[in-house]
Amino acid sequence: CRASLEVHDTSHRKDDLPTHGLSETVVGVLGGGQLGRMLCQAASQMAIKVIVLDPMENCPASALSHYHMVGSYDDSAMVEEFAKRCGVLTVEIEHVDVATMEKLEQLGVDCQPKASTIRIIQDKYLQKVHFSRHSIPLPDFLQIDNLESAKRAGDLFGYPLMIKSRRLAYDGRGNAVAKSEAELSSAVNALGGYDRGLYVEKWAPFVKELAVIVARGRDDSILCYPVVETIHRENICHIVKAPANVPWKIRKLATDVACKAVSSLEGAGVFAVELFVTEGGQILLNEVAPRPHNSGHHTIESCFTSQFEQHLRAVVGLPLGGTSMKTPSALMYNILGEDEGEPGFLLANQLIGRALRIPGATIHWYDKPEMRKQRKMGHISIVGLSMGIVEARLNLMLREEILDGQ
Ligand code: ATP
Ligand code: MG
Ligand code: MG
Repeated sequence: CRASLEVHDTSHRKDDLPTHGLSETVVGVLGGGQLGRMLCQAASQMAIKVIVLDPMENCPASALSHYHMVGSYDDSAMVEEFAKRCGVLTVEIEHVDVATMEKLEQLGVDCQPKASTIRIIQDKYLQKVHFSRHSIPLPDFLQIDNLESAKRAGDLFGYPLMIKSRRLAYDGRGNAVAKSEAELSSAVNALGGYDRGLYVEKWAPFVKELAVIVARGRDDSILCYPVVETIHRENICHIVKAPANVPWKIRKLATDVACKAVSSLEGAGVFAVELFVTEGGQILLNEVAPRPHNSGHHTIESCFTSQFEQHLRAVVGLPLGGTSMKTPSALMYNILGEDEGEPGFLLANQLIGRALRIPGATIHWYDKPEMRKQRKMGHISIVGLSMGIVEARLNLMLREEILDGQ
């Protein structure tokens, strides 16, 4: 009788016992790519348990996670099974089985951000409709179902015309540009045809691309990170400069638009807002990601709280951390696969060898099992006392690479 009482007592004292980390909530992440991996890195510092669901046995997050369930985040049964092990369910990719998330939410599973947010964002056309209803400035857009409607859009918006896949887009792989009406069919075919679900956007004549990471806590408190400039090469993020070198008016406008966009969505976490700046100083929203983002990788070295720690704080209900930069300037350089297989690894290793000798540079390697062209394999952050200094260090690293290749 005494023994059973003791057991009973212990369970009642659970709340008073010291926790093993900052939060006892087990964070379940749908997806185990590099973003999941960096979430695990931040979590280990705070002794927060992160478990991941990813189909690839040796996915980047696998080795660093508390537990890796091998399975697809787009498979209803797997997501349901996974959710049983989580205190809170979050995502590192938006292309997940959202219908199951919605069902789980009804059953009381805590999803952060909310499934409604993932549903809006995972369909870029729905995303545009949502933001235009909330009076967020966007490039004009129109759904297309056949050549006739594509031609109508071309007449309306002019050329070049940006054609986008509604779903499963990343790294520009769902985008095609038609420079004239004659190119419409080939651009549509390159995306897999009208049946894939397409829409068009008016060409945004931007002078710069900006991004803002916005964090929202469970109490709806909102904090924005400094505005950054993103430089894309062939539609893929190539370099990020923090802070963006734009007038304070543009910085303020970009932050306001980002904040308003995120306020229209539900749930806690970090969100990335991609923006265009036009010559006249207009800000247009490109898209929002409901998770940590490539444009926020620099925060690991340059801000008081990294976007990964911030996401964890937000979803488990800890206070949000400071978003200011603790170093005047930072630059992030993506290590993209330059070749398939071994030759690609060799080139990446040469670049990493240079980076190791650059003061203020930190190397992140995602440990992806396969090297492919244009695949994000890692990134290098460089911090310093001014943008001039970090740019000079980047140039040194890249110039040495070129000299090395001669
Ligand atoms: P991500 O990897 O950021 O998710 P994605 O595949 O969703 O990329 P988008 O962000 O839609 O693709 O577009 C990729 C890039 O293409 C943009 O960063 C921008 O450089 C260019 N782009 C997109 N839309 C337009 C537009 N309407 N006009 C001009 N350029 C555009
Ligand atoms: Mg995208
Ligand atoms: Mg994008």
